[in-house]
Parts: sequence; C-alpha cells; structure tokens
Amino acid sequence: MNIVRIDLNSKNIQIESIEKGSEFFLLGSRGLTSKIVYDEVPPKCDPLGSDNKLIIANGLLAGSPFPNSARTSVGGKSPLTNGIKEANVGGRPAMMLARHGIRAIILENKLPSLHFILIDTEGFHFVSCEEYSKLGNYELHEKLQEKYGDKIGIYSIGPAGEYMMKSSTVAANDLEGYPSRHAARGGLGAVMGSKNLKAIVITPTRNSEVKIYDLDRFRKVSKPFAQSLATSKQRFSMYGTPMMMKGMSSYGGLPTQNFRMGSYSEIDKISGEKLHEIVTSRGGKKKLACSPTCVIRCSNLVVDEDGRHVTSSLEYETMALNGANLLIDDIDVLARIDHLCDDLGIDTIEFGVTAGVSMDNGKIEWGDSETVLEILDKEIRNNTSLGKLYGNGAKFIGEQFDADRVPQVKGQGISAYDCRVFKAMGITFATSPMGADHTSGAAIAGRAASQHKNYGELTENKNKLDLSFELQVYTAVLDSLGCCYFIGPSFENMEIIANALNAMYDLNLKRKDVIEIGENILQTEIEFNKKAGIDTEFNDVPEFFREEESSPRDLIYTFKKQDLKNFWNRLGNYNY
Ligand code: SF4
Repeated sequence: MNIVRIDLNSKNIQIESIEKGSEFFLLGSRGLTSKIVYDEVPPKCDPLGSDNKLIIANGLLAGSPFPNSARTSVGGKSPLTNGIKEANVGGRPAMMLARHGIRAIILENKLPSLHFILIDTEGFHFVSCEEYSKLGNYELHEKLQEKYGDKIGIYSIGPAGEYMMKSSTVAANDLEGYPSRHAARGGLGAVMGSKNLKAIVITPTRNSEVKIYDLDRFRKVSKPFAQSLATSKQRFSMYGTPMMMKGMSSYGGLPTQNFRMGSYSEIDKISGEKLHEIVTSRGGKKKLACSPTCVIRCSNLVVDEDGRHVTSSLEYETMALNGANLLIDDIDVLARIDHLCDDLGIDTIEFGVTAGVSMDNGKIEWGDSETVLEILDKEIRNNTSLGKLYGNGAKFIGEQFDADRVPQVKGQGISAYDCRVFKAMGITFATSPMGADHTSGAAIAGRAASQHKNYGELTENKNKLDLSFELQVYTAVLDSLGCCYFIGPSFENMEIIANALNAMYDLNLKRKDVIEIGENILQTEIEFNKKAGIDTEFNDVPEFFREEESSPRDLIYTFKKQDLKNFWNRLGNYNY
C-alpha cells in the first residue's frame, strides 16, 4: 500500500510505499490522519490557510472482506474546533482506493483554480472544472457519472465547502450512487474547499492491490464474526439508527427545543417506526449497506409519495436535532432537510444544533420548517449573510446572538444525546479531542465496553468515566481499521481485531498491542490540541447542563471539573 503526497500548487506527486516495520506500517485511517496532522501541520495555523493539510486515509483492513471495514477517514486541522479532526465516512470510494493500492492521500497547498483529481490505472490527473463551481453534490455526482461511468467512487464538496463554511462536509457516493455519505463533523469540507479541490474521482480497477498474507486464517477470524453480527443486529438492520427516537424520548434524553426538554410530545410522528412505515409503504428501501463488506446494513432510502428518491440514509441524529430539537414533527420535512444538507455539503448535526440556538433566541419560530428549508436552499446555497450565519456552526451563531445556551464543546455542536441523562456520553462529549462527537465513544443505552465489567445504571455517574474512556480507546482502534463502530468497540473485539491483523499482515499482535494503537492515537490528538491551545481546561460541557435540570428526568450534569481535566491521565496506566 502507498501513501500519495500531492502538492496541489506545483502538482508534484510523490508516492511512498508503506513497508513492514516503517513508522506508518500499523497506522490506518484515523491513526494515519492524526499522525500526519501532528507531524506536519503547524498547530496554530489557519485551518483554511495553505499550511493546513487534508488527509484522506483508508484503514488497516480496507479492501479485505472483514465486516464493515470500508470506511475512509478524512483528517486535518478543523476550522470548527481549531483542533485536530478526523471524520469518517462509508460509501464506495474506500474500497476503490484500496484496490488501487492507496492507503492515504495527503493534499498540500492549494490549486490555482477549481479542479478535481481523477485517479485511474494510469495514475493521477488534474482536471480543471470551473463549470462545476457551486454545484450541489447531487448534480455534481450525476455529471461525473455521465463522464466516467456509474461505477466510479467519488469524494466531493458541495457549495458550502467551496464557501469554506465551518459546518461543511466531504461527501462520498453510496452503493446506489447517491452522494449520501458524509465525513460530516468538524468542517473538513471547508478545508477541501480552501484548496480549490471540488472532488476526487476514482475509476474501478480490474485487479486489486490488496494483499492478505494468510487468507484461510483471515477467513477463520472474519467469517464467524460477520455471521454473529448479521444474526445479532437484525432488528437494528430493519429499523436502523432511527429506532432510537422513541427510546431516547422515553429515557428523557432526546434533545428537544434546544435541549430544554428530553422528551417530545409528538415523537410518534417522527419515530423510527413511523419512518419504517413510510419507507416500506412508498417503495423506499431498508436494510441497505452504505459501503462494501457491511453485514449489518442499517441504512435506508426514503422516497416521496410518488416513489421518487428524496434522501438516503435518514439517521437518528439528523431526525433528533432537526426534528424534536426544532419542534418539527414531519418526517417528509426531515427527509428534505437531510437531502438539502447532503446536496450543499452541510453537517446535519451541526445545522440542527445551530438552528436550535437561533430558535431559542427568537430568530425563527419553533417548528417553522419553511424558514429552515429556505435557509438551506436559498441562503446557504447562495452564500448570503444569513447563509453564512447558519453555515458556520452553533458556536458562531451563539456568539452573534450573545446566546447563553449554546450546546457545544470545543466549538462543535453537541450531538443528539442529552449529557445530563446519558452520563457516559456526557463524558465523551466533554473529553474527546474531537469536540462533542458521539462517534468517538458512543455510550448509547446498553453498550458496555467489556463483558467482565459492570458500568452501572445509564443515568448514574458511577463508572461512567471508565466506560467513556474505554469506549474512546476501542473506538480509536476501530477508526484506525476503517471499521464502522457498529461492529462494537469492546474489549472482547480487540482480540478478534488482533487476530485479523495477524492473518492479514503476518504479525503476532496481542489484544494489548491493539489497545495500545488506540491509546497512541488519542495521545497524539491530545498533544496536537495542547499545542493548538486547546488544553484540559476545555474538557467540559456548557454551564447550563450543570444549572438546569433536564425535563422530565430532573437530572443535572454533576461530574467534577477536575475529573474531566484529569480524564486522559488514564492513558498508559489503565487496567482494562
Ligand atoms: S452498519 Fe450502517 S453505518 Fe455501519 S457500515 Fe453498515 S450501513 Fe454503514
């Protein structure tokens, strides 16, 4: 596998092979993006200036048949948090990059005008594309598919990325060909836009460069694991993440009305069950895989009453933060918001939190879906001053309105879990080097990090610092493999992963070695943030979570500030 370094200014390309024993050998995806950012990006640089780099990296198991292993990490210094950032995405292109023998692409400096990069069996080509300027992802992908065929893989930005909005995403096309998958968090689309890079297009290759040292041994590890995931996740596959809507509301932890409440009276109108009914009755699709090798298949495809595609995949966090959080109780509107965000290249989580702050400050009426749709389709699409207000995230809009209730940590909007109720998730939000990011240690209901430990009740503080820590370490491991975290960030699965890596690369790793990979990634990220000025003082949630009781659970956030500051002292001396 190779690392491809592209100087966008000179168009010089250097290809470095990753050899056994080299410093990059056991680094993949997030492990690789974070190491390169740490080594090469000046911590205090302008995230949208030419010193920042954008890294697109595959995981250590990319291209193999290991379940759910075809995700790409996108990394750089975040314009949203000003710290290190990795956001990962499913879709087609990861597998295609792997087949071309590419582990990572490092993008440096800036193109003189808007281009895309075409990767085919002959190499890398820079294609000028001013005619694609400001195109939404949907139209862009259609045009690229017309030109290069419908089997291509695409990473791209929409107009929000070109405008360098801090909520902008990097999109990837899914297996149905729609630009529905997004490396959404942290504004990395803006970094791509700052480099004048509209897209990376990868053509299919007949032969794969992926090598598995001992395929029989590899199958003995991956096949039973895949079978057990496919069997145990059947309900999740049927309903996907939206099945959490009702559960979160009944726990009292569903962000409602800018986190003023935790339960939504109209939940039945926007529940996972309601979505399921709409999708199946109109001829939409369920149980879709967002990327090759996924055996869980939790994605959906939503169509309108005439059976036309609206969006895919409508997820829990999008529905919660743009539904209950804004008091919008119409699934068709939520599907339209999701479509527009995907088209523009805007993070649905950050947008929902941003609009919630605006409504809380009386700038939009609660539940006014028409205005919300107009802000996306008119204001953000045309980069108006109102569009800029809503495209730069919750912290930015909170500062403009001098708001006192802004659900964000380290500059990033809090995802769809009330941290007063879901205690371990509240630790992850406070401590993750990525800002408030549920994917970096998702302590959702019922998730234990180890079968041999007891983490206590969901809504109690007991053992939640440890639960969040373990989940964050194991998730960093999964992120470095390119695996979707739905396969389970757990102590037990670290053994399976060690065995898979041993079979793939002829190694002799133990579980503890794999756990060390996760610890090292986090240490690197924390060090970068420290140098960027984001130290342990930033490990906290907004004060209103400590002052206002959640409704109806009457819970507040009570973790000691000192415990949050010292949280990462566990690294290197923790008993798993
Ligand atoms: S489980 Fe869901 S999110 Fe994960 S790879 Fe499969 S379809 Fe994508």
